[in-house]
Amino acid sequence: MYCPFCSAKETKVIDSRLVADGHQIRRRRECLECHERFTTFETAELVMPRVIKGNGTREPFNEDKLRAGMERALEKRPVGTDAIEQSINKITSQLRATGERELDASLIGNLVMEQLKALDKVAYVRFASVYRSFEDIREFGEEIAKLEK
Ligand SMILES: [Zn+2]
Repeated sequence: MYCPFCSAKETKVIDSRLVADGHQIRRRRECLECHERFTTFETAELVMPRVIKGNGTREPFNEDKLRAGMERALEKRPVGTDAIEQSINKITSQLRATGERELDASLIGNLVMEQLKALDKVAYVRFASVYRSFEDIREFGEEIAKLEK
């Protein structure tokens, strides 16, 4: 890729390592012209199932949307970016592993809750309170009561 600082065509990789549990490669690059350094991340792009929304419409799976939802729930919580990326990788590989071409949005929501539960209980309750409908309010109360103990 071109240098993001001076648009020179030649950059060289000075360091490369596996991150996010081996699902990404992080490369440090240096521009041969201006000698600025920058980082790139490489991930495999695989076909994801389409998402069936509550109203029956379909939309392409959007990893950024998933990440944004998780980050919102994890706001000001002591959870590192790498841990979030690992959870996102787990969710996307589970979705891919279904082998389905279309999946209910609720299934994705449940996978997110599962991951958040393991990452941070407060984020889990935050996400679930937005995501789940009122009929689950009792279950929520139980969850919060568990946290308070
Ligand atoms: Zn440059």
